[in-house]
Amino acid sequence: MRSGFSAPCLNISSLEGGAFPIGQVTYFLGAGATRADYPSIPLMDELLHEILRTGSAENLLQSFLAEIFGPECLRPEAQAQERPRIDDVFTLIDASLSGKAPSPGGKSREVLIEARRHLIASIGRAIAKTIGEDHGRVARKFATVLPEGRTTLISTNYDIVMDNALLERSPKNVNYGVPVREAVHRRGDLIAGRFDEIHHYRPIPGSQEIIRRGGIPLLKLNGSLNWLYCPRCDELDITLLQDRGALTLLDEPKLGRCYLDRCTSPYEPVLVGPSLEQRYEHRVLRDTWTRAERALLASNRLVIIGYSIPDADYLARAMLARTFAARSHLVTVVTMPKTPSDQRILEQRFKRLFPHSTFLPEGFEHFVNDISDSRANRGVL
Ligand SMILES: [Zn+2]
Repeated sequence: MRSGFSAPCLNISSLEGGAFPIGQVTYFLGAGATRADYPSIPLMDELLHEILRTGSAENLLQSFLAEIFGPECLRPEAQAQERPRIDDVFTLIDASLSGKAPSPGGKSREVLIEARRHLIASIGRAIAKTIGEDHGRVARKFATVLPEGRTTLISTNYDIVMDNALLERSPKNVNYGVPVREAVHRRGDLIAGRFDEIHHYRPIPGSQEIIRRGGIPLLKLNGSLNWLYCPRCDELDITLLQDRGALTLLDEPKLGRCYLDRCTSPYEPVLVGPSLEQRYEHRVLRDTWTRAERALLASNRLVIIGYSIPDADYLARAMLARTFAARSHLVTVVTMPKTPSDQRILEQRFKRLFPHSTFLPEGFEHFVNDISDSRANRGVL
């Protein structure tokens, strides 16, 4: 069942260039795209609960939360509704770091930065527990059928499910739309108390071959759990674990030093948390957003997958409106609402931005199968 607004009926082959001239297609991926492969991946609303319940938080983060929200929130048997939301925690920290609000609990800037780093590492650990070493079947199939050179992926997700799927393409596709200096890997364990002294990460021999190519840009608007940024070099390195064929998540709060021998700066994660105080001043993220806007302007199709345009994402919503609201008949929304009433609410929300968009409520997997069949029928695959 397909429900369209007043739009002409769109079929998948038209998306692939049958009825429309072959051109650029941008796919905009939200959390629902990851959930097609990992239904149990925690929603934003449950993320902090999952982190505390599974023991993925270290002491520093636990005592920070206990001090701000009271020790009750740490109880192992507490329900999700009894714990703070992770977006509130990020907002408290980020609003203070940006100078817009007082510090929670009168904490110093250093403590807030440290707590934020622990929060990001905990997210990495909680996501890693759900994903494990498994590879997303739907994501992999999607990555396989995408044509190079006329596809751009924009993602609000900082998990690395789609990254891994693109890495498994042949040839391997690693292209974040911004220059990556090196793919690096961990060299042994960190030594307690000497985090800043040692070069914990080293470049992977031959990785330049991989990070220099990739005809399908994956533009990660909120950063990524495999990005390591050196503020002194102003360079982005990524992790890319060769032997398992998958990128690795940042799950250590202390990341160690930049790999360059002459550089003494520790790495920083690049990740905008789910916060009402979303900050995109980071040079790497600014470049990513500029690239995303350009890709949207140059595209003659926009397919939005598993994304509910949440309120906190007002900047992403504005970017989509700037580039496609006036040509909304070229927008397709792929989603899988749980109930007819959810579907109605979602359609209404999208309709206000994209009045003539087409709605495909059968979900990401169904959509990928349709593209795959269509391409097979046309002898493309
Ligand atoms: Zn450096």
